[in-house]
Amino acid sequence: MKEDMKSIVILGGGTAGWIAANLIALHWGDRDIDITLVESPDISIIGVGEGSTPPLKIFLELIGLKESDWMARCDATYKVGITFRDWSTRPGFEEYFHPFLCQPDEFSVPAFFHNSFLRRKGVDLDGHPSQFFLGWELAKERLAPVAPPNFPFEMNYGYHFNSALLGEFLQDWAAKRGVKYKQATVTDAVLDERGYIDYLKTDSEETIKADFYVDSTGFRSQLLQQALGVPFDSCEDMLFNDSAVVFPTEPEENPTPQTISTALKYGWVWKIPLTSRFGNGYVYSSKYVDDDDAEMELRQHLGLVDSDIEARKLRFKVGRVREHWAKNCLAVGLSQGFIEPLEATALDMVQETVARFIEAANKGNFTDQYRDEFNQRISRRFDAVRDYIVCHYRINTRTDTEYWLDAGPKGKVSSSLRELLTAWVSGKNITDELERQNLDAYFPSVSWNCLLGGKGIYPTDEQVRPGNELAHKYDLEKISRYLKGCALNFKPHKEQLRVVRNAA
Ligand SMILES: Cc1cc2nc3c(=O)[nH]c(=O)nc-3n(C[C@H](O)[C@H](O)[C@H](O)COP(=O)(O)OP(=O)(O)OC[C@H]3O[C@@H](n4cnc5c(N)ncnc54)[C@H](O)[C@@H]3O)c2cc1C
Repeated sequence: MKEDMKSIVILGGGTAGWIAANLIALHWGDRDIDITLVESPDISIIGVGEGSTPPLKIFLELIGLKESDWMARCDATYKVGITFRDWSTRPGFEEYFHPFLCQPDEFSVPAFFHNSFLRRKGVDLDGHPSQFFLGWELAKERLAPVAPPNFPFEMNYGYHFNSALLGEFLQDWAAKRGVKYKQATVTDAVLDERGYIDYLKTDSEETIKADFYVDSTGFRSQLLQQALGVPFDSCEDMLFNDSAVVFPTEPEENPTPQTISTALKYGWVWKIPLTSRFGNGYVYSSKYVDDDDAEMELRQHLGLVDSDIEARKLRFKVGRVREHWAKNCLAVGLSQGFIEPLEATALDMVQETVARFIEAANKGNFTDQYRDEFNQRISRRFDAVRDYIVCHYRINTRTDTEYWLDAGPKGKVSSSLRELLTAWVSGKNITDELERQNLDAYFPSVSWNCLLGGKGIYPTDEQVRPGNELAHKYDLEKISRYLKGCALNFKPHKEQLRVVRNAA
């Protein structure tokens, strides 16, 4: 990195490239830095990635967008969390909801922690997570999470959207902030004597030169992995899925504002509501099922065996690069790594990478001083997400295929996840354990409690004892009445989408 940095080239115009362009323009727009995004007209974007987490809302607001500016144009709907279905065969735990926490939950989460903790210790309490969260009430009742002005609590939510349309929208927005755009296919990066990227060659014999490069070329990772040779550490020994088959279905007028993830024989299917369609995608391992059989299983699951709509098939690799920022190049998006999309964390990783990079560059006065610290921080975040996703598989109880048997409890786990699981089953405080290991770098304790409690990693009904009055201090009926009372303030999802559309 150069103290007198004058130009940045962002190579790749998928969602990652355009998020990076907008954030860099926002933070460094007044620094007299020329920002150009270069995109190949011949290499398409991946075109999946339709679910988000709440930080996307923060990003969109940060760059100055209102929901009425972008939601209707990107076929977007609201998202309050994810329902996981058929991952566990434990009676009563075949389904659970992982919410995006919002302020009203502050009153009910202590009861969840209490019940979950004592249930682990063998007291006969109900520790199933869904019932403790307003998001679940909204999802069930198909209400949008947008609070009316007189509602005294802050809400927190994500979105579903068409990723190609969001990319186009962010492109227009970045152009308004002075980001230049150029179409060219880069064939090679020429390095200088220090091994830094000097300039790029294109297929039309043109050269493109900048002081700093952002690699957002997707799985190709043209600059960071290919040109600079930064190693990629795969985690396919822990996460087996490497493929997806994707299929649209007809939209619903008032969809439930959540993603639904249903486990099938060789992986799981997402169902994401957009205003124009449902996006459905079966994420599976090609080592256990061939592509045609996976497509047929998805068609059967969707009741579309005879439909002539074509499915799209994709391959992906899981893992992360060893350094996200190397020499004068920062990788963002799929070029820096990918953990399968079970919790829709990829765009959040893009935002975090760019935001922390800007912070590190500013702090180091545009030198490499904080590069190592930055790289460690982003890698830790990747690994924390990986452990959470791996945990989904290790605690599953399906035995219907080799896939689930191999992915189950006997599969490989990191030492940090092993310690956490040990803490859980031995009744220790896992909030402390998460902090000790910095495993809450991404998912907080409540998410881990949802995952482990939601899949029923508790003593069974036969193993528990009644417990004293103090153990039963929370009245679940009262909590249910409170959450239902809160939900009365919210509009049906379809109505809120109409309000947003009309305001556009
Ligand atoms: C099956 C699946 C499901 C997913 N679901 C989710 C989800 O629910 N939520 C979520 O947050 N994320 C999800 N993701 C991840 C998400 O799709 C990506 O993080 C997001 O789309 C960003 O992709 P990208 O911009 O890194 O790459 P891409 O979309 O692949 O864009 C690459 C860009 O680089 C350009 N390019 C490549 N090579 C060159 C070259 N040599 N010269 C010039 N330009 C070049 C291309 O033209 C393109 O513009 C999912 C991913 C997969 C595989």
